[in-house]
Amino acid sequence: MTQNAPCPIVVVGSSNTDLVVRAPRLPRPGETLLGGEFLQAAGGKGANQAVAAARLMARSNGQVALVARLGTDAWGDTALAGFNAENIHTALVVRDPDAPSGTALLTVDAQTGENTIVVAGGANARLCPADVQAASALLQNAKVVLCQLEIPLPTVQAALEIAHAAQATAILNPAPAQALPPDLLRLVSILTPNQTEAAALTGFSDPAQAASALVSRGVPIVLVTLGAQGVLLATPNGTRVLPGFAVMHAQDTTAAGDCFCGALAAALAEGQALEDAIRFAQAAAAICVTRQGAQPSLPRRAEVARFLAAQGQS
Ligand code: ADP
Repeated sequence: MTQNAPCPIVVVGSSNTDLVVRAPRLPRPGETLLGGEFLQAAGGKGANQAVAAARLMARSNGQVALVARLGTDAWGDTALAGFNAENIHTALVVRDPDAPSGTALLTVDAQTGENTIVVAGGANARLCPADVQAASALLQNAKVVLCQLEIPLPTVQAALEIAHAAQATAILNPAPAQALPPDLLRLVSILTPNQTEAAALTGFSDPAQAASALVSRGVPIVLVTLGAQGVLLATPNGTRVLPGFAVMHAQDTTAAGDCFCGALAAALAEGQALEDAIRFAQAAAAICVTRQGAQPSLPRRAEVARFLAAQGQS
């Protein structure tokens, strides 16, 4: 594949190695808990969303490009090999000799599947606007550009500016939450906060109020993910909840939001209408929460098709 072969989806974001331990509950500050099973898995919001999209596109080869930075360490080698195995376009993944690959420490509550996460950004913190400029041809030819906030904000802004100018659908998953300048929000086509992030961005704990506030700041479509409750869709025409899919046992909600965003990008890049794309993304995310880990839990297209067929909604 050439450096600038067009890909319908370009993800600009982070890649981490997740070090996960399951515990009987989440620890309190200062507390040491004896945990259970340990899992090492590929993660990072950018990488998770790229892998989710790649697994869900109808054509698998080279449909998703990732713009990211990895260290030159063994974890970076493993991450890159993983992207290549998913047929992700990696020509614009930079290997940085001056920083370690990103690492995330996760604790998962074995009863509820809830988690806490601390990320050591490493090379992700050095993904810079020049890296985005190097990817400008890819970004200009993309249908969907997908960003998160585990990389520096000026880098996100640079990617969104190119996407906006090229009239690509620019999806921003504002996670982890941080204040966003109005100029940046105006470049976003679809914003996908979870409830916590929507509250942090607006000061409103009520998701409908938060989403309306974000729409009034110029974001045309806001999707607040509500965990098991589904998604709140807000546009200038109003807000409404699109229910999610019930699952028997939510094991681990790690990467549910990433799965949702990657799946949404895949469905939109293939031309699905917004509400169909949201239903597809909620089905993918529902499957994701029934499995452990970040990238290992991301479903493939055939699984989502079977899941939707079983719900009578193929
Ligand atoms: P995040 O992982 O970013 O906190 P959410 O927890 O809101 O995001 O989950 C994202 C999406 O994943 C939800 O909108 C929903 O579609 C799906 N989801 C999350 N938890 C569950 C669950 N327990 N059962 C079914 N679907 C879920």
